[in-house]
Amino acid sequence: MQESMTEKQKTALVVSAHSADFVWRCGGAIAVYAKRGYRVVIVCLSYGERGESGKLWKQGNVTLDQVKAARREEAEQAAAILGGEPVFFDLGDYPMRVDDEALYRLADLYRELRPEFVLTHSLEDPYNFDHPLAARVAQEARVIAQAHGHNPGEGVIGAPPVFLFEPHQPEQCNWKPEVLFDITEVFDIKQKAFEAMAAQEHLWEYYTRVALQRGVQAKRNSGRDIKYAEGYQRVFPFVSDTLI
Ligand SMILES: [Zn+2]
Repeated sequence: MQESMTEKQKTALVVSAHSADFVWRCGGAIAVYAKRGYRVVIVCLSYGERGESGKLWKQGNVTLDQVKAARREEAEQAAAILGGEPVFFDLGDYPMRVDDEALYRLADLYRELRPEFVLTHSLEDPYNFDHPLAARVAQEARVIAQAHGHNPGEGVIGAPPVFLFEPHQPEQCNWKPEVLFDITEVFDIKQKAFEAMAAQEHLWEYYTRVALQRGVQAKRNSGRDIKYAEGYQRVFPFVSDTLI
């Protein structure tokens, strides 16, 4: 992570509804960009304490605070393995509610980081209302951070592209992969981060299969030797002076 003294470290922002979402859905991209010297900040809006911690609740005799603490520890471990930096908003889940204070906190983070890109959830998810809410909040905070009239004098952000990571059942979420991102070189790291998520062991194999399938498709669409990939849908048009 040696940056030249004159060059500012580049950053990326991940907005994850629950503390483990970032691991399954974009852990590879986090690891790749961390290796490239980016500061990757992962906002976990909640710990997923009610809705995505079934294994802990089934043990019985646990309190909400204990579940939150366990999920936080797992997320910290997973983020450290990937090379990202978690920030916990602790807004609660199932249901998640985002007040203006949290929205402005996220907008402030955009202005502080000035991310090169943003990763968040799909815009729809009939199985989970926290996920599209996180996507909405990620985008709304981005737009606030772009507004000259919001805390005038602070300096607005540019237009970082927003990528929506793959939901659990893409077809039901009207999500389709527009970017297949090669994570072959970091898949072992992503797998270690999976394994930090002991509360959701039932997903390890599933998301290994997802990465393999997207890898086959990435190879098919590029001719490159890719084994594992992550899929992303874009929100905004790709702006470039080159078509390849
Ligand atoms: Zn989730």
